[in-house]
Amino acid sequence: MRAEMIAVGTELLLGQIVNTNARDISRKLAELGIDVYFQTVVGDNRQRLRQAIEIARSRADLLLFTGGLGPTQDDLTKDVLGEYLNRKLIIHEPSMAVIEEMFASRGIEMVESNRRQALMLEDSHPLENTVGLAVGNALEADGTMYILLPGPPREMKAMLEGAASEWLTAMLGESRPLYSRLLKFAGIGESSLEERLIDLIQGQSDPTLAPYAKEGEVAIRVSTKSTDPAEADGRLDEAIGEIRRRLGDHLYAEEDVPIEEVIVRLLRASRRRLASAESCSGGLFAELVTSVPGSSGEFVGGVVTYTNEMKHKLLGIPMEQLEGEGAPGAVSESTAAMMAERVMDIAGADYGISLTGVAGPAPSEGKPVGLVYFGIAERGKDTVVHTTHLSGDRSSIRLRAVKAVLYRLWQ
Ligand code: ATP
Ligand code: MG
Repeated sequence: MRAEMIAVGTELLLGQIVNTNARDISRKLAELGIDVYFQTVVGDNRQRLRQAIEIARSRADLLLFTGGLGPTQDDLTKDVLGEYLNRKLIIHEPSMAVIEEMFASRGIEMVESNRRQALMLEDSHPLENTVGLAVGNALEADGTMYILLPGPPREMKAMLEGAASEWLTAMLGESRPLYSRLLKFAGIGESSLEERLIDLIQGQSDPTLAPYAKEGEVAIRVSTKSTDPAEADGRLDEAIGEIRRRLGDHLYAEEDVPIEEVIVRLLRASRRRLASAESCSGGLFAELVTSVPGSSGEFVGGVVTYTNEMKHKLLGIPMEQLEGEGAPGAVSESTAAMMAERVMDIAGADYGISLTGVAGPAPSEGKPVGLVYFGIAERGKDTVVHTTHLSGDRSSIRLRAVKAVLYRLWQ
């Protein structure tokens, strides 16, 4: 179990207050036998708070927040976490009653913003505030636990020692998903993957399936609550078997590796070598492949032939092919084929790949943004050219085009 403490508050960043909550929370978690791997401080800012949550979620099982539960507009913790987890904010009626009573007994008029302190995330556990007004929250979603505590130290400590510790010890005692496996997919988007597994995602309580998209790829975490190793393995095997039946042609790894690494391994095993000729992707293919340590044995090299002139000079593609009346153009099936074959020959490689397309934002050669041709040449075989129509901005079109080539190489 790895925890990350996230203190929310611009005052902390400005050095106006000392982050004593970090000390107190870390101390308490250590006492409970939970390892705190990171302490984060983030300002009262929606984007950056969301970013902090995304990063923490990728490296911790328990995210413990302090601050930003109050009534004002800069108190954003519940809003942002609710948005991130796709959960509505609902009113916790007992807290609401306490707030109303407090205002009534003091004869002060209550303003709308005070109601915000009684809000909690849908399907979460309220944490009673015995000292102040803002209700805390605890919940589990897709195997990650979240605890939201107020900022004022007196309130924070009371809740940490009280309701939060109670919830946490109950959760730790209960069988939590200890056993999980990660599946990586290529050549399929997150939404179509979800669609094909929707009955399993929605209908199954164990194991649970949590899909997410990351850097042009899609992953699913399959987790079981079983604590018995043999039983857990059995459940995971069964679920993964079903996923494989449905999506086996996209499931390229059962571990957290990018597809370029799998390609390098396959090339190594078959003692084959690869070269690339890129246009619209500007060298991103070469960048991804060479980011795999030790890929020099498998990747001979690549060229970025961005202009027609360079495609002609470096790869020997005839100018009549690239431009002029009736020419297929740089963004065409035949050019993609020639680029892949030429770079394979020049490099003396076993495979040559090419990418040529329109990454945007503007169309080119009268061809639409997102149209990308890529060629795969293999020594002794016919060259294959694939046509894809990708959506998104320039950088995501480039990344997804490169991932599409890697996917076809894997197939
Ligand atoms: P409030 O209802 O007071 O607005 P809140 O949950 O929204 O509470 P913040 O607005 O973030 O919390 O902080 C309120 C006050 O609590 C801060 O002005 C500061 O004095 C104190 N505080 C907040 N975070 C910390 C921290 N990490 N360490 C110590 N004190 C803190
Ligand atoms: Mg506040």
